[in-house]
Amino acid sequence: MKEGYVLKSKIPEKDELSKINKYTRREFTADEIYTFSVVLCDNEIDRDNERFTTQALNKLSELFLGKTGIFNHSMQTQNQKARIYDCCVEEDDSRITKAGEKYCRLVAKAYLPKCDRNNDFILELESGIKKEVSVGCAVGSVSCSICGADLRSGGCHHIKGKSYNEKICCAVLSEPTDAYEWSFVAVPAQREAGVIKSFSTNSVYNVESLKKAVRLNSEITLNAEQGKNILKQIESMENDAQYGKMYRGELKKRLLKYAGLVQPEIPEKVMNRAAENMDIEDLKCFEKAYRKKAEGVLPIAPQLAAVHKEKNSVSNAEFKI
Ligand SMILES: [Zn+2]
Repeated sequence: MKEGYVLKSKIPEKDELSKINKYTRREFTADEIYTFSVVLCDNEIDRDNERFTTQALNKLSELFLGKTGIFNHSMQTQNQKARIYDCCVEEDDSRITKAGEKYCRLVAKAYLPKCDRNNDFILELESGIKKEVSVGCAVGSVSCSICGADLRSGGCHHIKGKSYNEKICCAVLSEPTDAYEWSFVAVPAQREAGVIKSFSTNSVYNVESLKKAVRLNSEITLNAEQGKNILKQIESMENDAQYGKMYRGELKKRLLKYAGLVQPEIPEKVMNRAAENMDIEDLKCFEKAYRKKAEGVLPIAPQLAAVHKEKNSVSNAEFKI
């Protein structure tokens, strides 16, 4: 995740309208549309000691075109989105980054329809309440700024944030391959967004983030350490699955036994086939129902026979009422 902020908001000019209308299903007029500019990211070293190359920003300016930004993280308001219709890299000749490069930033223009539903958001934009954004993207290369080592496959001995011969060590993010959604954040460090970034950089190591990466259709590269981590998780799951299988087997065995007692007209083969297709909840439900019935027919555990008989006479009496 990288953070940016809103620059300004205004009514779109004519040439902007045509760019916007490329993304709309019908022609919108300037009165119907609200636009604002937002800085998505820049080439300065960020708080994670990472930085984009200028080339990466240029590539991202293409990748972010048409991408929607969410301005409320709640699932219920998924349709509350603004879309990027224009994106460019702005250079600032007067500013040099910590890495000694000319400062560049990726500025996007986004639009949203003016409607009652969006009024609050527009007000929040104009009053400066909504101003931080986070962006997620995938990059093809993460390298050490000192020696150029590929940080996704083992890396090097340099430590991010430390200086070597007056050069700050950081991870250089380049060759972006995809840009995901961008979003407005109340707290800049959004966990969700952070996960998105981590697919492509250095910290993919659990099954959950893998699942998410697969859902987003992103490329996944794991280094040895990350691979080991995932494998460990899978092994632990396999272990749990063994217990799950044992439990299921026991449950099925009992179900077949009780079913045989209660409904002997159903061949065991048939009941077995039915049980094979049940999930664990169904199995539990059927097992319980058949067990209760079986207990009514004859005592299942001999040493508890007396107790069961008593119980049954009580429950039969209850039924009579
Ligand atoms: Zn290095």
